[in-house]
Amino acid sequence: MALYKDDRYLLKSAVPVFDELHRPGDDAPRSGIYRCEGCRKEVASNQGEPLPPQNHHQHDESLGDILWRLVVSADHDPK
Ligand SMILES: [Zn+2]
Repeated sequence: MALYKDDRYLLKSAVPVFDELHRPGDDAPRSGIYRCEGCRKEVASNQGEPLPPQNHHQHDESLGDILWRLVVSADHDPK
């Protein structure tokens, strides 16, 4: 699970992009931390670049397909 120390730097959001599941190699819709729905492994990916491929990590077949979910989105345009 992603960790943080100071909650002044994170903000809860209901933006639908957090509900989307992405296949290995799909382009990341946002820069940030993504979590494998099956095995809970987390990675950092950049917006517009491919999410890690199928062979990226040890992922037991019993856990289902690798599907990436955005869990923390980086703010590139602070107001
Ligand atoms: Zn996995």
